[in-house]
Amino acid sequence: MDNLIYDIVIIGGGATGCGAAVDAASRGYKTLLVEQFDFAKGTSSRSTKLVHGGVRYLAQGNLKLVREALAERGRLLKNAPHLTRTQPFVVPVFSLWEKIYYSAGLMLYDVLSGKLSLGKTRLLSRKKTLELLPNINPKKVMGGILYYDGQFNDAELCIDLVHTAVRHGAVVMNYTKAVGFKKENGVIVGVELEDTLGGSNRTVACKSVINATGVFTDSILQLDDPDADTLVYPSQGIHLVVHATFFRGKNAMMIPKTDDGRVLFAVPWQDKVVIGTTDTHVDQIDVEPLPLAEEIHFVLEHFNRYTNLSITKEDVLSVFVGLRPLVKSSGSNISSLLSRDHTLVVSLSRMVTITGGKWTTYRKMAEDAVNNAVFVAKLDGAGTGASSSAKKCITKDLPIGDLGAAADLAAELTLDDLIMGEYLSHEFAAFYGIPYAIRVVDVVVAARINYVRTVEDFLARRSRLLFLDARAAIKLAPAVADILQKELHWTNEQKEAQLTSFIQLAQQYITH
Ligand SMILES: Cc1cc2nc3c(=O)[nH]c(=O)nc-3n(C[C@H](O)[C@H](O)[C@H](O)COP(=O)(O)OP(=O)(O)OC[C@H]3O[C@@H](n4cnc5c(N)ncnc54)[C@H](O)[C@@H]3O)c2cc1C
Repeated sequence: MDNLIYDIVIIGGGATGCGAAVDAASRGYKTLLVEQFDFAKGTSSRSTKLVHGGVRYLAQGNLKLVREALAERGRLLKNAPHLTRTQPFVVPVFSLWEKIYYSAGLMLYDVLSGKLSLGKTRLLSRKKTLELLPNINPKKVMGGILYYDGQFNDAELCIDLVHTAVRHGAVVMNYTKAVGFKKENGVIVGVELEDTLGGSNRTVACKSVINATGVFTDSILQLDDPDADTLVYPSQGIHLVVHATFFRGKNAMMIPKTDDGRVLFAVPWQDKVVIGTTDTHVDQIDVEPLPLAEEIHFVLEHFNRYTNLSITKEDVLSVFVGLRPLVKSSGSNISSLLSRDHTLVVSLSRMVTITGGKWTTYRKMAEDAVNNAVFVAKLDGAGTGASSSAKKCITKDLPIGDLGAAADLAAELTLDDLIMGEYLSHEFAAFYGIPYAIRVVDVVVAARINYVRTVEDFLARRSRLLFLDARAAIKLAPAVADILQKELHWTNEQKEAQLTSFIQLAQQYITH
């Protein structure tokens, strides 16, 4: 076991775990974050990309949840302005009753955001609705409602949280899986770690553990105690990405009631349109879940019902799928009714498990998890009195990001390595064959400081190309692999293996 004793080891490098690492490190705790794959490889790269209070939870009467999420929305837009933006949404309505009902709800939504409002909710005439949503089917629309929410790049924010945690002293390890615990008198004092890219295993000593593993929560609970009750009721959601020509303009559309009683969004994102999502309970937890044919049909059918175009699955550039770590409730097993609030459990071993919630509320989840870890492990600063003030949570106002490190490196590289040096070769030209603003320098920076270890890491979560256009990602993969081979010192066999596995994976993002 290593000599260094971490105050807190966090398992899981998604929104919740990276947020917890920022929280713990910025309070001054010795913090280790481990992620079995790439940061944000799980659900946290597969969201609808909305920083939102959740308008549909209003209909369920959960005002507390909505108010808390709206406060977090405001904080995130303030603390990470480079990765977030305000997005206008239009809700088309088809009767006077709908107009009254939805406008009352959306006005309340704005009121609940208080000083952190992103813009006033407004009623729209039929003419204005058709102007703001040029592709809406004009036949039955009688008006609309305009409201505002936030939008972000989920995987990129995750990396920026990692940078923020490191800036405050955290140690972070991707491709490192927690595979066992070392205990004394039933209390966890160490975590056994496996290098999932084939390196050696090690055990680290710690005073406390936070389990932030999303839909994998139960496997960590049972690693700690094989008899532990399961918590998670996984629910799958898919998104279809299409060309912006299918849904023109800057406004997003919110369809307030689908056939299964959910909401469906069509949101402009990175010059494309993201349409989703679904809510399908799944029994199996897979790190790369597959879309069901009926889910694709459901999304296409609802989108086409509201627009004047008829898109088919051939028009889809990419389909991405995520699993919600919903928490079981004794009263309901219909996943669209399960709480989106987060749940925290402290095990006898003193492990703190945090799950549920949503991206928007990651900071509050992290704060709650770290507060509990500090309390149960009696870490420095726990309890009351003057000594505790030094370890208070400071993330409400903490700027998120690498403070320009990636941009600085990119600027240096342009001069030294790229134009003058070894990267001016045939693969550089290949970039121009793909109509996306991805530069060689982006791959190099991603490998040197943005924790890229595989072709997939770059194409799926640093550039987002796999999510935006899976066929283009496949075309660009060989050029990316060439650059990464040099950066990460791969053998030819390793490079070929990387390419084969990426291309196989990318096929899953194409609707066949
Ligand atoms: C379809 C869909 C749409 C959504 N849209 C939105 C939205 O628009 N806005 C919003 O706010 N929220 C949204 N959410 C919710 C949000 O994405 C999730 O709540 C959030 O990403 C969960 O983050 P997490 O860190 O808890 O889990 P994850 O992101 O899944 O992270 C858990 C991590 O733990 C790692 N792990 C597991 N086991 C181990 C181990 N043994 N050792 C090391 N690491 C391990 C996994 O690899 C994984 O990366 C959406 C969710 C879905 C499914």
